[in-house]
Amino acid sequence: MGTAGYIVAGGGIVGAAIAYGLARAGEDVTLLDEGDIALRAARGNFGNVWVQGKGVTAPDYADLTRQAAHDWGAFAEGLEAETGIDLHFRRPGAAYICFSPEELAKRAAALAASNVKARIHSPFQVLDRATLAEVLPAIGPGVAGGTYCPDDGTANPLYLLRALIKAMVARGGRYMPRHGVTGLSRDGAGYAVDTAQGRFTCGRIVLAAGLGNARLAPMLGLAGPVRPVRGQIMVTEKVRPFLTMGTNFIRQTVEGGCIFGESSEEVGEDDGTTLPVLRDTARKAVTAFPLLRDVRVVRAWGALRIMTPDGVPVYQGRDGAFVVCVHSGVTLAPWHAGGLIPHLQAGALDPDVFQSFQPERFDVQAA
Ligand SMILES: Cc1cc2nc3c(=O)[nH]c(=O)nc-3n(C[C@H](O)[C@H](O)[C@H](O)COP(=O)(O)OP(=O)(O)OC[C@H]3O[C@@H](n4cnc5c(N)ncnc54)[C@H](O)[C@@H]3O)c2cc1C
Repeated sequence: MGTAGYIVAGGGIVGAAIAYGLARAGEDVTLLDEGDIALRAARGNFGNVWVQGKGVTAPDYADLTRQAAHDWGAFAEGLEAETGIDLHFRRPGAAYICFSPEELAKRAAALAASNVKARIHSPFQVLDRATLAEVLPAIGPGVAGGTYCPDDGTANPLYLLRALIKAMVARGGRYMPRHGVTGLSRDGAGYAVDTAQGRFTCGRIVLAAGLGNARLAPMLGLAGPVRPVRGQIMVTEKVRPFLTMGTNFIRQTVEGGCIFGESSEEVGEDDGTTLPVLRDTARKAVTAFPLLRDVRVVRAWGALRIMTPDGVPVYQGRDGAFVVCVHSGVTLAPWHAGGLIPHLQAGALDPDVFQSFQPERFDVQAA
């Protein structure tokens, strides 16, 4: 079917960001994606560029997240200039809303500890109820306060995905939807990649197929230790702007609708919705912002997170074959399209640089 310098398997935000980054670096790249029935977190996520609390117990992951978030402004500007697609990136900071003084104190302690361990500092403030109400006047009486971090932002993940693919194609990359990878093997110095439409060959291969990595990575002796964790999300009709910044479980889109949800369920590959979870989510949103009581929900959906056993990314690669398993693909997009690329071009991931992200850490834990 074709030969390529690089094949990226998986056209979600992670695969598309990597393919765009490779094309931008002058590499010949083909992006193969499965069909519309595939599990696609990229099309069901919340759209937060989220720093606070990320990598609290994993400083290297905290640093990766913080650097990516810092790079988001220039990244969005560049992608918007290349494609004409507005990513709706906004960074007024964001608040993590707490419903009791105990929750607020615990959260503040965790953020402070994370700043001690990470190399990149991420400022935050602990806001009591009155101070939080100055920036979010619509909060309800059940809110005890919150933590605020200026590094946090929001973006439209669907526009992000579209822009990444458009920019990749404009730079000479090939996007091939409905090309699910069914087999992988060595082919001389490179790799053979089988799809229902035929065989591709490439010099290097990047597995970024989200949950599909669990099946694909072992075909090349790599690890794809991911499991699905469902989140249920709702979106409301458009309302006048009242949320001047994002929060951990509710944000207002540029168009005016409110997206909310933060459930976390272990239900296998079921990406449906359930009334009890939607009801609890709606109650929490109304407790936080009582004006939502009279606002209609227009859509609800479930989507599956791509979760490693400890929630920290896996980056593994040798002999020109790589696997990338991450949860926060929106937040980390500038890293996948930028800083990661020279490591892929080197043909292997330096174990010293990627030590914290090697899958072997799970073998140690199991032992
Ligand atoms: C409810 C929810 C909320 C989230 N909120 C945020 C957030 O606020 N901020 C954030 O940064 N992240 C968030 N995420 C995570 C984010 O959505 C993902 O990190 C992001 O979608 C990128 O994932 P991905 O590209 O690895 O996987 P996916 O988006 O799932 O894409 C994987 C792709 O691989 C393809 N594929 C699978 N198997 C094969 C195969 N054999 N061959 C070829 N292609 C294949 C699929 O078709 C799919 O297109 C959230 C996720 C969920 C579920």
